[in-house]
Amino acid sequence: MENLNYQVLLYYQYVPIEDPESFATEHLKFCKELELKGRILVAAEGINGTVSGTVEQTEKYMEAMHNDPRFADMVFKIDEHDGHAFKKMHVRPREEIVSLRLEDDINPLETTGNYLSPKEFFEAMQEEDTVVIDARNDYEYDLGHFRGAIRPEIETFRELPDWIKENKEQFKDKKVLTYCTGGIRCEKFSGWLLEEGFEDVSQLHGGIVSYGKDPEVQGELWDGQCYVFDNRISVPINRKEHVVVGVDYFDGQPCERYVNCANPECNQQILCSEENEHKYIRGCTHECRVSPRNLYVEEHGLSEQEVEERLTAIGESLKQKA
Ligand SMILES: [Zn+2]
Repeated sequence: MENLNYQVLLYYQYVPIEDPESFATEHLKFCKELELKGRILVAAEGINGTVSGTVEQTEKYMEAMHNDPRFADMVFKIDEHDGHAFKKMHVRPREEIVSLRLEDDINPLETTGNYLSPKEFFEAMQEEDTVVIDARNDYEYDLGHFRGAIRPEIETFRELPDWIKENKEQFKDKKVLTYCTGGIRCEKFSGWLLEEGFEDVSQLHGGIVSYGKDPEVQGELWDGQCYVFDNRISVPINRKEHVVVGVDYFDGQPCERYVNCANPECNQQILCSEENEHKYIRGCTHECRVSPRNLYVEEHGLSEQEVEERLTAIGESLKQKA
């Protein structure tokens, strides 16, 4: 019988790739032959991917990649899953494999922070004069993060350097630890911190995902869930205890469920319970709730009267000005 167990692979490698455009074309063909789905970015500086497939398909992919001298040492973080985690297969050539857009780009093969294993990171986090900086976006932090970590107020990675410059006082003369989902963002970010004059900079090797899989630390001191950029949206990390840190956008109750605002022009990600999704027509503001393009209204086939009833229940009205 066919094995219907699926796996999701998360991986990257900083390594020179000549002609990323043709590499991407060839690689897409190869992934499609294997019937994988996912998203891969290729640049002259390396490769960054997440793909899903059956155990057999993903094993073949890993074997083929490891047979390429450029990717012989590439580490794959493997999660079991009950199906594909993507709808399509994309391989895209890019300037960078994570977009930081520095004026003077960092080559992590030359400049990067110390690599800490999960166990080392666990211990370092608890030392004095140490700050832990989350290198991810605010909405990723809000679903889960290391206990006590600093939350940069950024919506995209490329805003991080400016945020650090503006908040430098908080980290001056401290030992700095950085972490991100799989480790790729920290490779450049920790290198940039060194260039900026921070002296003691370390990064979590393999990222949060590896930290959760480590048999010894088992994700300890991680609170909440880890945000991932595929259909799963979140994965568990801490196998010792589960502390919920996410809060419902509407009522502030503990919540770990992300939805996108039903107004396609807004599309903001909000944490909200199923109950509140229905109550608020999945709109983050009155304007989004009454948007003529509201997807929730369309999905549930709500009549104008039904919309009005929902609005009345929350003290709003269709006639109300946005
Ligand atoms: Zn909205």
